Amino acid sequence: MFIDTHCHLDFDSFDDDLPSVIQRALENQVSAIITIGTDIKSSERAISIAEQFSTVFAAVGIHPTDCQHTTSDDIKIIEDMLSHQKVVAVGEIGLDYYHMRAEKEKQIQVFSQLVALAKDKHFPVIIHNREAHSDMLALLDKLKPGASGGVMHSFSGDSEYLQKVIELNLFISFTGNITFKNAKGLDLVSDAPIDKMLLETDSPFLTPMPFRGKRNEPGFITYTARKIAETKNLSLEKVAQITTSNAKSLFKLQI
Ligand SMILES: [Zn+2]
Repeated sequence: MFIDTHCHLDFDSFDDDLPSVIQRALENQVSAIITIGTDIKSSERAISIAEQFSTVFAAVGIHPTDCQHTTSDDIKIIEDMLSHQKVVAVGEIGLDYYHMRAEKEKQIQVFSQLVALAKDKHFPVIIHNREAHSDMLALLDKLKPGASGGVMHSFSGDSEYLQKVIELNLFISFTGNITFKNAKGLDLVSDAPIDKMLLETDSPFLTPMPFRGKRNEPGFITYTARKIAETKNLSLEKVAQITTSNAKSLFKLQI
């Protein structure tokens, strides 16, 4: 059994066939899926999808590319959403200096507020970091998001950064891009302790081989899991078993 701890089922590309996407995931032994909000509207949609499908859970948050106009009222709305029984995390939150759709100071402010909220309410965090390594490291040191647990999703960075993230009580996850030909970062996959790893697809993005170029979906998680198994010299069953138990304990999933 697998758990897809990070996907975006509320995005347009799932509008036409969401029930069959979830059915195909089940057929591929994906027994739980966490769909992640990226702003207030997307978080509302994530909750509504989680209400419709028993295997789907929701995370609510404001993505760093969507935070330029975030107000304290928005933070309060996210806080209220945490009382929904299918909400299991605060995310997606973080820093994104690649797209830079919000000023750095604003990204740091919103990320800090949402980490504080998650810690206060004892929810794990789902962190996005793109090309903001040094600011992210400084913030992790200061904010200690790992106090209520969390994950650095779609991990990119070096082994020193990986160590730091793990020391701060965060899990890490890799996406389908580790299955690409000449994939970078496989040394990080082998360095990362399996008991600190989660599985994710980040669907509809980052589709693994052999479906690269098509829309990604939770059922494709087996391709990434198989690559992790191969890289770490573990059986696929072992990878499934350990990452599932990691995800269940981090997100307190009752499945
Ligand atoms: Zn995401």
